[in-house]
Amino acid sequence: VTEAVRMDGSALARRIQGELADDVARLKRERGRAPTLAVVLVGEDPASQIYVRNKSRACAAAGLIGTTHHLETACSPQQLRALIERLNADPAVDGVLVQLPLPPQIDPVAVRTWVDPYKDVDGLHPENAGLLAQGAPRFVPCTPAGCLELLRAYEVPLQGRRAVIIGRSPIVGRPLSILLSAPGCDATVTLCHSRSRELAEVCAQGEILVAAAGVPLLVRAEHVREGAVVIDVGIHRLKGDNGSTAPERLAGDVHPEVAARASLLTPVPGGVGPMTIAMLLRNTVQACQLREDR
Ligand code: NAP
Repeated sequence: VTEAVRMDGSALARRIQGELADDVARLKRERGRAPTLAVVLVGEDPASQIYVRNKSRACAAAGLIGTTHHLETACSPQQLRALIERLNADPAVDGVLVQLPLPPQIDPVAVRTWVDPYKDVDGLHPENAGLLAQGAPRFVPCTPAGCLELLRAYEVPLQGRRAVIIGRSPIVGRPLSILLSAPGCDATVTLCHSRSRELAEVCAQGEILVAAAGVPLLVRAEHVREGAVVIDVGIHRLKGDNGSTAPERLAGDVHPEVAARASLLTPVPGGVGPMTIAMLLRNTVQACQLREDR
């Protein structure tokens, strides 16, 4: 059995970050400081802490300034809003990102409206989501943008092709469905979710299959059409079996057996994850540029 070729998101992300270096250097020259991303972290979620640290490291590596702003788990919505408004008003900040998930007292839908739409490097503000839906995006959400870049880099034909996406979240599945079906990509998109019937049969129609359900190893060989391109967005830390002393390992939404059916497959880690960060840096550089141009 031939194994799927792994799509190397780490290498592509490095290349894109290298390409950003010229823009970063120019912006730094022109305005005396590097593009700046402010990341807001609420609470102590260990996965979020890792993501925030990775984002700030990536900023530093690419010559951007990354600042982290931490609020306690018990903080009020008003405290978070005040912090976001301070960052919105700060001329030294180009991009503002609020790390998800948020504690239950804070409504993530409201939070999206608090970030200045011109600093909204996550692309989740209703104005930016609306622009994306209308085919004129300002900031494309980072994970869907990263998926598209991977498909482009591996020259995956999209026009007229069947793309199936599992997951309809406003961060991943929904915007990716809009992008893939837009003129230019021209795929025929099916968007699946937890109420979809006959998921395996529907997925097996996909020449491109994107798994963004947040369910470890959900996608098995039966979900995958022979030769399909499979993008695995999920990230999970799996513990060893009961009683096992095996260390935690990372897994995606896609079961390893899929490698025997797919033609191209993104690994976890090293696939969509690093691309998401590269797109965040790109959006931050673009936010800096946009503020200059306004
Ligand atoms: P989410 O908000 O929980 O959304 C999950 C979506 O999947 C929902 O639409 C849900 O349906 C659907 N779903 C859940 N179980 C399903 C099932 N058994 N069959 C079919 N559909 C199902 O998650 P998210 O924020 O989009 O993230 C998805 C995954 O991607 C997570 O593992 C997350 O950690 C990962 N992620 C990775 C990156 C990266 O950089 N690599 C970035 C963001 C997220 P309903 O709408 O019906 O509930």
